[in-house]
Amino acid sequence: MAQRNTWQRDRVRAALSGSPGFVSAQDLHASLRDDNTGIGLATVYRTLASLAASGEADQLQSPEGEAIYRACSSEGHHHHLICRSCGTTVEIQATDVETWAQRTAAAHGFTRAEHVVDIFGLCAACSEAAR
Ligand SMILES: [Zn+2]
Ligand SMILES: [Zn+2]
Ligand SMILES: [Zn+2]
Repeated sequence: MAQRNTWQRDRVRAALSGSPGFVSAQDLHASLRDDNTGIGLATVYRTLASLAASGEADQLQSPEGEAIYRACSSEGHHHHLICRSCGTTVEIQATDVETWAQRTAAAHGFTRAEHVVDIFGLCAACSEAAR
């Protein structure tokens, strides 16, 4: 797919990398606006969705149902353990899940199967604090 606005994509990706933790499209748009980039909110939404689709960003649903994003520190396909309380995210490989997903898809005649598996919970520190 041709990328017509590569500099905008680079700019959005850089802003995302510079953000600590997860941010919404609005948050990111606000920080880009402070830099006078002229990048519109619609472009930020579109770019974030495309970064998430290509595995360069993590996309999650906030408790309010809003899509939030984070620059991914791992390359390629992986899964996440996410703390519901503080947002700490651990990137994990899940070989068992890959095998299971492929086998299950194949058993139903599905090809090109993809999946998203993230585990939400309380991290060690938050578990300790909640005790
Ligand atoms: Zn990730
Ligand atoms: Zn936590
Ligand atoms: Zn997987």
